[in-house]
Amino acid sequence: MTTILNGYQFRLYPNNEQKKLINQTIGCSRFIYNHFLEERINEYKKTGISKTCYEQIKEIPQLCKSYPWLKEVDSCSLRNPVFDLENAYHRYFSQNNGFPKFKNKDIGNSYKTNNIKSTYKDKNYESIRVDLKNRTITLPKLKEVPIRGYRNKEVFVGNIKSAVIRREGLKYYVSVLVEEPLIEQPFQPRSIVGLDLGIKDLIITSHNEKIENTLECANINKRIKGLQKALARCQKGSKNREKIKLKIKRAYMKLKNIRKHLIHDITNKIVKDNDIIVMEDLDIKAMYQTKSIAKHLVNIPLAEIKRVLEYKCLWKNKKLYKVNRYYPSSQVCSVCEYQNKKLKDLSIRSWECPKCGYIHDRDINASINIMFEGLKIYMQSLI
Ligand SMILES: [Zn+2]
Repeated sequence: MTTILNGYQFRLYPNNEQKKLINQTIGCSRFIYNHFLEERINEYKKTGISKTCYEQIKEIPQLCKSYPWLKEVDSCSLRNPVFDLENAYHRYFSQNNGFPKFKNKDIGNSYKTNNIKSTYKDKNYESIRVDLKNRTITLPKLKEVPIRGYRNKEVFVGNIKSAVIRREGLKYYVSVLVEEPLIEQPFQPRSIVGLDLGIKDLIITSHNEKIENTLECANINKRIKGLQKALARCQKGSKNREKIKLKIKRAYMKLKNIRKHLIHDITNKIVKDNDIIVMEDLDIKAMYQTKSIAKHLVNIPLAEIKRVLEYKCLWKNKKLYKVNRYYPSSQVCSVCEYQNKKLKDLSIRSWECPKCGYIHDRDINASINIMFEGLKIYMQSLI
């Protein structure tokens, strides 16, 4: 059976004692990450090679002897940072990401724990349990904590794999990863849409819709800029400076939430209204490396839109097709297929086809072409 991994995020309401333990666990998790990052760096300097994550995991019991307070927290939360570090190294080598950074209170306010199953006296136990009826989650060491979210969901169908407990300011959240069975249904499409991802408008669809990028005009960006200027004027070490820092942090958090909601709203609608969704196979990494484009991309969550569309389509039995990135979608007339090479200039927003005379909106025309290319892919898949 095919399965799919779904994440469910709940607001967590720990009591004071539980809060203390969560904060302590986050601290231990960060300590482990930084300790093994430092070890890797030093080892590499000395010998030219560094230990693998499995060798490092074997060192944890010894580390717990040297620092007994590590024993007070969930043991899974101590192993996971070692794997996270391995992943950070992997991304550094394979995807040209930055070198792994040491974690501090600004980055690294979470810990991950795994669901461990066991049988005792013929009874099955799981270390993470979610009771959606009574709105609680049971987590290792913390025991029962009230949660809020997914009001209409009564039960998880599938296996809980892990949970990430996160602190954001004074609020706590838990993301539960569930492996759910994917019920395969016959695919009988009735609707198709082509998407052109833009800069001024976030998404332009072949249904003649333009979805504005509300992130660009959000006042919050101005606020962040203003606060950053104020911060630069502040004296180092002053109380005021700390206050402004906190305000900046909160503003960024708000921006992150606006962004998340915007992406979900847009993608939900697209996936709900269409059976086949077609988009360009953008090389997002290359776009960020092109200076002229990269400066516009700060507030455009292209990679995130792509990722969310991918999993929602899989989830809802829809098809997402990607059109070859070298296909000149904005140059071809969607009415007569004449290719207008003059259109390479991005500033031309509308044009008249020299062959058939149709007047095109640049982006709508591109999205229609993308839709047709997707239709071709679908037709080919039927043969
Ligand atoms: Zn034409």
